[in-house]
Amino acid sequence: MEAYLDNSATTPPCAESIAATQDALTRYWGNPSSLHQAGIEAEHLLSSCRSSVASAIGCEADEVFFTSGGTESNNLAIVGAALANRRRGKRIVTSAVEHSSVMESTKALQERGFEVVYLSVDRMGRVSEQELARAINRDTILVSLMAANNEVGTVQPIDVVRRIVTRVGAPATIHCDAVQAFGKLRVQPARLGVDLLTVSSHKIHGPKGVGALYVRKGVKLNPLLYGGSQESKLRPGTEAMPVIAGFAAAANALPPVSQSLAYVTGVRDRLLDGLRGMEDVRLNSPQDALPYIVNISVYGIPSETMLNFLSQRGICVSSGSACAKGKQSRVLRAMGLGDSEITSALRVSFSRFTTWEEIDTLLHALNEARQTLVRSK
Ligand code: PLP
Repeated sequence: MEAYLDNSATTPPCAESIAATQDALTRYWGNPSSLHQAGIEAEHLLSSCRSSVASAIGCEADEVFFTSGGTESNNLAIVGAALANRRRGKRIVTSAVEHSSVMESTKALQERGFEVVYLSVDRMGRVSEQELARAINRDTILVSLMAANNEVGTVQPIDVVRRIVTRVGAPATIHCDAVQAFGKLRVQPARLGVDLLTVSSHKIHGPKGVGALYVRKGVKLNPLLYGGSQESKLRPGTEAMPVIAGFAAAANALPPVSQSLAYVTGVRDRLLDGLRGMEDVRLNSPQDALPYIVNISVYGIPSETMLNFLSQRGICVSSGSACAKGKQSRVLRAMGLGDSEITSALRVSFSRFTTWEEIDTLLHALNEARQTLVRSK
């Protein structure tokens, strides 16, 4: 591979995470619920993993609940909070640009009689504080807003939600999908004023199939699964120790946010500098987006054609969300972009391991593509 620039879809596991996953598989394979030696050792590991993830999130260990990933954490937060609070109101406020795991959860709740308000976004992909304030009323039991968008990197004004909820006197639980922001921006729940926060391991160089939901003490959630008493009965099932250990090791290996942010901003700026001379390339991400994601459109070259061209040269980028495979981006549509921008969109996403050489490889190939590929009208 010449350049891996699809880190918003998934990141390569770091060495620490691989070693910890293997260690848990080979040495700590006991069931953390068992009372014998093997179980006790696994339980110790589980407890230390919980502390590591809690410290990376910026919360207490008993506020961290392990799940199978961002999708499950979002489902648990949204469906769990709505069902636990259904007697207090029926309105749910979210945005039109959430990840499909949020959108499909709220759609399912709509079918069960909840009223869902999908906030629109501006050309930058941002919801307005005024619209948020208009949408949150005393019947609102849940507000779910992402920290940073997975297709364009727009950072949402999540920190104003608590103020509005308090002012209105809404009985709302506040949820933030921080899958793309975790490890990249400061997302401490207390700082953001949120009750529930979703994180996922494979976006921070940990294994796939594991994530966590932060649940502030005292916040009520109904479980989605029924079974044993693992994860305080909120998420029953024998804990997935190998991937939990890998996740915790990846969380421990995260450098300070400011350090990665400074490095990745340099990487992003190198790409933007290189794109500046290409008059047929439009930047779809806002200037103040999370620098880990750059969304562009190369006019006249369909995303798929460009992806294939780049893939043949060992360059991995995407056309948008990995979960929306093949479908046109509803995020870019919600931002008011036209067909020509949407059909030619590319998402380039970085990690702290992205090199300048990878950016130069991409720029070189983009230039070649612009000169050789036949453009559609
Ligand atoms: N939320 C956002 C913003 C995402 O980008 C993703 C994954 O792409 C998810 C949730 C789902 O996370 P997972 O892949 O761990 O289920």
